[in-house]
Amino acid sequence: MLVSEIYSSRQGEGRLTGQPSIFLRTSGCNLRCDFCDTPYASWAPEGKNIPVPELVEKIANLSPKHVVVTGGEPMLPQTISQLTKELHARGHHITIETAGTVIRNVSCDLMSISPKLANSTPSQNRAGEWSARHEKARHRPEIVTQLIQRYDYQLKFVVSQLRDLDEIEQYLSLLPAVRREYVMLMPEGIDKSQLKEREKWLRPACEKREFTYCPRMHIEWYGNKRGT
Ligand code: SF4
Repeated sequence: MLVSEIYSSRQGEGRLTGQPSIFLRTSGCNLRCDFCDTPYASWAPEGKNIPVPELVEKIANLSPKHVVVTGGEPMLPQTISQLTKELHARGHHITIETAGTVIRNVSCDLMSISPKLANSTPSQNRAGEWSARHEKARHRPEIVTQLIQRYDYQLKFVVSQLRDLDEIEQYLSLLPAVRREYVMLMPEGIDKSQLKEREKWLRPACEKREFTYCPRMHIEWYGNKRGT
């Protein structure tokens, strides 16, 4: 499995915010989000190929029992099935952070799905052929449906503008009924002032629609830094 980084930190987003966790970031993604904050695992994937047994040993030597498998897109490598099964057998709690475009048989306690809206598509100028590839691949409600039926879940959407909320409502209408408090809306941005500015209109909009406002606490705590 191509791995970009492994580190201990705290979960900064979603239902398990604040939970000390080990983060395992796979490298490689089938999307190219315009706002991607981990380009070293997507736009220009880098990392080291590490066999699953070695990864399991590395993680066993770190302290928290919670493991967040993230990316890139961690559902891309087939070996995620073996990895999550072995970690589960050792008593780890597993969160998978996915864009919900690929499904595999995995052991997972919390499927953290972040479907990508139209605001994620990069311009052709920036991304060349990836602009159309991204647009074609990003919208897979039938896969998200299977994920939320199989696993405990949260749905995290990145919001740039208020009108994105109508697109989210439309998206949800394509899924079976979901718990609205598990629909978490995050402001787009990687610096504190931008996030605070967007919080001003996004938090009340979430309250009005019974969604959960989802701050990006890791940026509050550490800034936009690798390994946090
Ligand atoms: S799905 Fe995630 S890792 Fe892939 S390009 Fe989008 S934000 Fe980056």
